[in-house]
Amino acid sequence: MSPVPYADRIPVHRTLPEHGLPRDEVLGILRSMATEEDATWETGKCSGTMYCGDHDHYDFLNEAFSLFSHVNVLQRDMCPSATRFESEIIAMTLDLLHADAVEGSEPVGLVSSGGTGSICHAMLAYRDHASATRGVVRPNVIKPETAHPAFDKACHLFGIELRVAPVDPVTTRVDTDWVAGAVDDATVALIGSACNYGYGTVDPIEALSDIALEHGIGLHVDGCLGGWILPFGQELGYDIPLFDFRVPGVTSISADTHKYGYALKGTSVLSFRDRALRNAQYFFNTTWSGGKYCSPGMDGSRSGGLLAATWASMVQLGREGYRGYAEQIFATSAAMQASVRSHPQLRILGDPSFLFSFTSDEFDIYHVNDFLRTRGWRLNGQQYPNALHMAVTRPQTRPGVAEAFAVDLADAVAHAVAHAAETPSSGAVYGGVAGGMTDEADEFIRMMMGQMMDAQQELPADA
Ligand SMILES: *Cc1c(COP(=O)(O)O)cnc(C)c1O
Repeated sequence: MSPVPYADRIPVHRTLPEHGLPRDEVLGILRSMATEEDATWETGKCSGTMYCGDHDHYDFLNEAFSLFSHVNVLQRDMCPSATRFESEIIAMTLDLLHADAVEGSEPVGLVSSGGTGSICHAMLAYRDHASATRGVVRPNVIKPETAHPAFDKACHLFGIELRVAPVDPVTTRVDTDWVAGAVDDATVALIGSACNYGYGTVDPIEALSDIALEHGIGLHVDGCLGGWILPFGQELGYDIPLFDFRVPGVTSISADTHKYGYALKGTSVLSFRDRALRNAQYFFNTTWSGGKYCSPGMDGSRSGGLLAATWASMVQLGREGYRGYAEQIFATSAAMQASVRSHPQLRILGDPSFLFSFTSDEFDIYHVNDFLRTRGWRLNGQQYPNALHMAVTRPQTRPGVAEAFAVDLADAVAHAVAHAAETPSSGAVYGGVAGGMTDEADEFIRMMMGQMMDAQQELPADA
């Protein structure tokens, strides 16, 4: 990637222009970049990330967003609509996750800025609730190795010890005996994924629930990815284990509306079995000279547009809309998985549903990635073992995409067989960093972050 994207075509601004540009010109620049970038995923060959991939739907969301884009939802007296949107987003999510099965406590929720936001708020809530109710001073949580790095980030930020449980190499599900053995007096929550990002597999949530209930601790289910699609998969009769509030030990669930909720980027819902847990992470400062301050979560000002667009997506699609999309996605994923299984050299990891991951015991799977890239595919790379994953989203459900995958995969396997003795080229960037080279990998990542975040140092002087 160029250090200064589009520098060849679009004038660079190193300083605020003295005279503003005409709106048409600004919009023209934006449109040209957006059109070019959309072309990379509109083919349907890009794993995950563009969950809806439907420009009509995006136009609709953008219209909803635009009506409230300028509103700050922190000032609720000026926007009662935000309270309406937020409460309905939470209520509909709780309903989807079967909060109706909860007895003896009141399920509530929190709309956050995304999956990481929901996970951070959950970890903060467990920490502060355990501190207040059990006097826990040095809290720990236990996550499966496969659970998202957002948990590591949250623990890093909030001073929580993270215990990482191994997963079974065949099923890719967490070793619950290990988890049970790792619980101690300072454990505030267990974590399970439904499903995890890497393999698309669901941890044994019911077994984790038993452990959590036995010790009187929390169980957070990370449904960031699956929370808005697995419930519809269950309705459609797919064999997806229980993971929601019907499992008695589940105390919170993160479910990203900005993934399979088909809303705009920037929203996720964190649901709690019990209001007391959510309320533990409220923040107040009633003595500030600037006035009494309170915010329900970590964010300060937020745009009302995101709540409006999320709400709009939910009520416009309805259960029927979501179920219909889920049906196409599950069917497409099954077809693509069948293509993988048709090659004896390839092996699917665990028992996935809409997102699947595969490796090879005969060659480095990054040879397959190298070749698929030449055909425009963008799969996600994994390591330990090297594997590739495809999160099937709506763009893959278009006619011909799964068929193209079958053809391109067959050619990719032939390429991998022919080049098995060589080192794949995508290995270095994706999952190919070998064990024992952690320091080098850290350095490499630091360099990549620098390229992205310090690009302003590369900007040429203003034209
Ligand atoms: C995407 C994802 C997250 C983190 O979400 P962000 O929205 O990227 O912050 C957490 N867990 C899983 C399983 C995810 O797929």
